[in-house]
Amino acid sequence: MDPRLDKYAKLLIAVGINVQPGQTLVINCPVEKAEFARLLVRNAYAAGAREVVMRWNDQAVSRETYLHAADEIFDTYRPWQADMLNTLAREGAAFLSIDSSDPDGMNGIDHARMVRQSRAFGPAIREYREKQMSDKVQWCIAALPEENWAKKMYPGVPAAQAVAKLMDAICATMRITEDNDPAQCWREHNARLNDRKRRLTELNFKSLHYTNSLGTDLTVELPEGHYWDGGSSTSAAGVRFNANMPTEEIFTAPKRDGVNGRAVSTKPFDVGGVLIPRFAFTFEKGRIVGVEAEDPRHRELLEAEIALDEGASYLGEVALVPYDSPISRMDTLFFNTLFDENASCHLAFGASYPNIEGGADMTEEERLSRGLNQSITHEDFMVGSPDLSIVGATHDGREIPVFVNGNFAF
Ligand code: ZN
Ligand code: ZN
Repeated sequence: MDPRLDKYAKLLIAVGINVQPGQTLVINCPVEKAEFARLLVRNAYAAGAREVVMRWNDQAVSRETYLHAADEIFDTYRPWQADMLNTLAREGAAFLSIDSSDPDGMNGIDHARMVRQSRAFGPAIREYREKQMSDKVQWCIAALPEENWAKKMYPGVPAAQAVAKLMDAICATMRITEDNDPAQCWREHNARLNDRKRRLTELNFKSLHYTNSLGTDLTVELPEGHYWDGGSSTSAAGVRFNANMPTEEIFTAPKRDGVNGRAVSTKPFDVGGVLIPRFAFTFEKGRIVGVEAEDPRHRELLEAEIALDEGASYLGEVALVPYDSPISRMDTLFFNTLFDENASCHLAFGASYPNIEGGADMTEEERLSRGLNQSITHEDFMVGSPDLSIVGATHDGREIPVFVNGNFAF
C-alpha cells in the first residue's frame, strides 16, 4: 500500500477531525475505500475514540436507486434514519467524510428526485445539520482518488497512471510527502490562515480595490460588522478542526449593492459540463450589468446562470488565496469544489455566508437589510493572477496593500 495513505489517515484523525478521547466518531466512506477506512478506524481508536460508527456509501448503488426505485420513496424518509444522525450530533460525535466519487457518476438521473429526497429528509435532520453548519460539532471532508474522476482530469492517460497522478496531486494539496510531518505543516498553515483572518477582520476595510493587467478593475465594499473566516474552526466544546481539507482560502461576504467595475476570470468555469475558458462581469451598484465571453454560447450560459433568481446577479463571497499556494501552482482543474475553490482568489455570485457579527442568528430579511446577498445559487469564479493587486480602503481613508503580485502583502 502507498505509505502516504497511512500518513493521510493520521493527518485526518489528528488535524482534520481531531477526535478527542472518549468521543464518538462517525465516518462516511465509499465501499471502494474500505482499506483506507480501516486505517482511519485504527487511528481513531489509537487517539482514544470511544466508538467509531461506520456509514458506508456507494455511488453506483445511489445511482441505481435514483434511476429505478419506486417514485414515492423520494418523498418519504424513515424517522430512525434521521434520529440516528440527530442523536449522534446531540451526543457530541464528530463527523468525518471521505469523498471519492466520479464527477459524472450521477449524470442522466432525474435531478428532481434528488431535490424531493432532500426536501423530505432535510427538515428531519435539521438538528444535525444546524450543529454541523454552525461548527458546533467537529466535521471534516477530504478526498481520495477515483478512477473516472482521474480519467476526466487527465484525459488520454491510462487509467492506473491517471489514478496515480491524482493521488500525487491530492498529496501535494494535503502537504503530504514521504518524509515530512504533515500534521506539523498543517499546524503552521492553520496558524498563518488564522493570523491573516484576524488581521483582516481588525482592519475592518470599507472596500477592496482589485486590479490586474487582464483588465480587472473592481471595487468591492464590505458590510458593516463583517468578519473574515477560513482555516481551522473551533467546536462548541472548544476543539479545533479543519472542516475542509485541503483549504487555502480566507473569505468574507461582500456588501450586496457595493460592487462596481469589471472582474475578468482567470481559470475555466464549469457550467453543467461546459468549460468557459475566460469571461468578464461588469457590475453597477452590486448587480452584474454586463457579461463578456469570446463564444456567444458561453455568454448565453453565463447569462442564464445569473438569471436563476434576483440574488444570482449579485456577489455573495470574496475569497483570498495566494497565487503561490499549492493548488494554484498546480494549475489543474479538479472538477471538485473541495480543490477548485482553493485554486485562486475568487468571487462567487449568489448567496453569501452570514459573515457579519450575529449574522448566523438573523432571519433572511435581516441579513438582506444588512447587505448580505440571498439566492438559491452560489457559484465561485476565479479572479487571481500573478499580478493581481488588492488595496484595502479603511473607514478613516487609509489605503493598505492586501495583495501585491498575486500574494498576500503581509
Ligand atoms: Zn470560497
Ligand atoms: Zn464559494
